[in-house]
Amino acid sequence: MNEQMKVILDKIKTYDRIVIFRHKRPDGDAVGSTLGLRGILRLTYPAKEIIVNNSDYSDYVGFLGSEDETRPDEFYAEALGIVIDTATSDRVSNPRFSLCKELCKIDHHIPKETYGDYQWVEEHRSSSCEMVAAFYAAFKDELKIDVDSATLIYAGMVTDSGRFRFRSVTGETMRLAGMLLDEGVDTDHLYAHLYMKDFNSLKLQAYVYDHMKMSEHGVAYIYINRATQKKFKLTFEQACAAVGYMDSIKDSLIWIAFIESDDGSIRVRLRSRFVTINQVAEKYGGGGHDCASGATVHGRKEMKALIADADTRLADYKESNEGWL
Ligand code: AMP
Repeated sequence: MNEQMKVILDKIKTYDRIVIFRHKRPDGDAVGSTLGLRGILRLTYPAKEIIVNNSDYSDYVGFLGSEDETRPDEFYAEALGIVIDTATSDRVSNPRFSLCKELCKIDHHIPKETYGDYQWVEEHRSSSCEMVAAFYAAFKDELKIDVDSATLIYAGMVTDSGRFRFRSVTGETMRLAGMLLDEGVDTDHLYAHLYMKDFNSLKLQAYVYDHMKMSEHGVAYIYINRATQKKFKLTFEQACAAVGYMDSIKDSLIWIAFIESDDGSIRVRLRSRFVTINQVAEKYGGGGHDCASGATVHGRKEMKALIADADTRLADYKESNEGWL
């Protein structure tokens, strides 16, 4: 247990109202960590009002559970806010987080900004869910957990670590995952949710393989405009999954999906192995992790420039490193 964890638990004990927030465009880690912590805290402190309240929603992780209704502003003003999995304050989904009396930040991203009154940031963790699991483990004698909360936290660990594949996975990750499994997580059921694809998404996968391009030094990329999303009857979130289809192309150490949004802007999802990519995302106002970052660009010109930057990054990497695949 570290000092920051202790401070956060002490704060939780002090407040009767707690609001948990996450980042916009939630993924499994954002949803699993917030709903999982809510579960632990509700079980442990039944007299407290503990809610998860955000301003957007994602179909992809909707199966994990639902969040709570928005409350009047006064509710937030008397509450402790806990923001999980969100590096910068402008990425918090619900702007009401700023109304909270005090604010804690729990995160595993590169800390680009210090916000809130209390921070517990551990960049080396494979997920924010791993941090919530570590938090529970550190205060096991005081906190309660059930199979639903364990499943939520386990789901976030599984999804954010590429199914326990990324280098950020440690012995500690697996020990914490083991602790959650011991609560009775139904892995068959969970993985069915994660792997089942509907017909249209498989059609999109075929489209991606048919239309993806490769830059000179091996950056694979795909652009999916609104017309294509409409043709395949895809939600924006389903179209965004396209980045995952390009993750195993030999010699292509960077892969990028550009997905056009309803407002005409283009969401960029960058992924890589061995080589870091976050500096390219940051150049375009985005950010994220070493090998999984995001940004938004406006128009084809900016898209081309980003591809050229990623290509240069990959060329430099290949020239000065060996042993990559
Ligand atoms: P995504 O492709 O949206 O799954 O994002 C990959 C990682 O980059 C996640 O950790 C996001 O939180 C982060 N990220 C995505 N978009 C942005 C952005 N515009 N600014 C900063 N970080 C981002």
